Amino acid sequence: MAKPRLLLLVPTTTYRTEDFVEAAGRLEVDLVVAAEKPNALADAVPERLLTLPFADPAASVQQVSDYARRYPIAAVVPVDDATTVVGAAIGQALGLRANPMAAVRATRNKLAMREALGRAGVPQPGFAAFGVEEDPGAVAKAVRYPCVLKPLLLSASRGVIRADSPAEFCAAWTRIVALLALPEVRALGEGASQILVESFLPGVEVALEGMLTAGQLQTLALFDKPDPLDGPYFEETIYVTPSRLPEASQRAVGECAARAARALGLTDGPVHAELRIDDAGPWLIELAARSIGGLCARTLRFGTGMTLEEIILRHALGWPIASLERERPAAGVMMIPIPRGGILQSVEGLDQARAVPGIEDITISMHTGQRIVPLPEGSEYLGFIFSRGAAPHEAEASLRRAHALLRFQISS
Ligand code: ADP
Ligand code: CA
Repeated sequence: MAKPRLLLLVPTTTYRTEDFVEAAGRLEVDLVVAAEKPNALADAVPERLLTLPFADPAASVQQVSDYARRYPIAAVVPVDDATTVVGAAIGQALGLRANPMAAVRATRNKLAMREALGRAGVPQPGFAAFGVEEDPGAVAKAVRYPCVLKPLLLSASRGVIRADSPAEFCAAWTRIVALLALPEVRALGEGASQILVESFLPGVEVALEGMLTAGQLQTLALFDKPDPLDGPYFEETIYVTPSRLPEASQRAVGECAARAARALGLTDGPVHAELRIDDAGPWLIELAARSIGGLCARTLRFGTGMTLEEIILRHALGWPIASLERERPAAGVMMIPIPRGGILQSVEGLDQARAVPGIEDITISMHTGQRIVPLPEGSEYLGFIFSRGAAPHEAEASLRRAHALLRFQISS
C-alpha cells in the first residue's frame, strides 16, 4: 500500500529542517520538501522536492494542486513562522487539516493580532500604531511611559525596544525606521510602514508550547524565562521547563492562551505563546501558529521519547499520538546571548562547557568569520546550550555554568 505523502514547507531562514526531516524519517510517510529557492536536486527527484513562491500563497496553491493531482498529499506542515500563511492556504485548498488563512494572517501582523485579541477581551497591553512618516517628537508626547516600540512583521525580538522617556522614544523610533527600510524587511509588505507602541507590561514571562486540535488547546510544555526581560532590548536567553509557577498561575496561563487562540480563530496545529504575569494574572504578549523557534524544541521529549516535530507531523496526518505527556526530567535551553557585534573569530571552552554535569549538548549556529549583529537589529542566534536536571533549578544552573565556560572572540 502506498504511504501517505507529507508536504513539508521549509523557509530559507529556519534552523529546523534537519529535525523535521528526521522526524518524518521515523514515520511511514513519503516526504516531499518544498522550499523557496530551487534545489539542485529538484530536477532529479521532482516528486520529492518542490520550489514554491511562499510569499505568493495563491500561486503556491496552484502549483501544489497541480502536483497533488499526480501525487496525492495527505498532510501539509509549515516549518516556522515564515510558511504558516502559505501552509494554511495549501491546507484549505486541498482539504487537509489546517488553520484558516485569516487566523494565521492575524498571527503574522502584530497590529492585527492586538485588534483581534482586543475584540475578544483577552488581557493584553494597551496599544496604538503609527505610520513611519509621522513626527516621532509629536508621537513621543502623546504616549505614556514606559512603553515598547516594535515592528509589526518581524520576530525574535528584532526591533523591539523599550522607552522610558520621549528622548528614548525618539531614539528607538529612528532605529526601527532604519530597520524597516531594509530591502528584506520592506519586502514583507504593507505592515513595514508602521510602528506599534504598547504599554510596557512588568512581570515574569513564560512561553507556552501547545497543540490545537479542532480548536481545543492542549498545553505541551510551559517554560519559565528566569532571566529578567526588562529591556531596552529583549534578547531571549534561558527557557526552563517545567514551570516553577504555582499550579493556579499555570492554569491561568493555559486558559489565557486558549482564549487568545480562539480569538484569533486558530483551530489546528502547534501554538507558541508568550505571556507576562503580574498580580492581576497573565497578559498576552504574543501567540504564533507554529512551534517554539530556533533549536529550542530539542529540550522536549514526549511519552517514550517522541520529539515535538514528530507530534506535529502526526497531528497533521491525523495519526494517533500515544502521549502528549512531557518526559519527567526538567529541561532547559539557553539561546546564547550575543556579547557584542563584530566578526566571530573563535569559540573556546566548548569541551569544558560540554562536560558540565547536566549539559546534553551545545550547538554553535554561527560560523567563524561570520558577522554577528546584536539586537535590536540582529536576527540570528549565536548558538544553543541544552540541559537536563532532576529539577528546573538544576537544569538552569547547568546552563549558567556551561555558559560561563564559553569564550567568544569577536573582532570589530
Ligand atoms: P517578537 O515577535 O519579535 O518576538 P514580541 O512582541 O514577542 O516580538 O516581543 C519580544 C519580547 O519583548 C517579548 O518576549 C517580551 O519580553 C518583550 N515585550 C514585547 N512587548 C512587550 C510589552 N508590551 N511589555 C513588556 N515586554 C514586552
Ligand atoms: Ca515573541
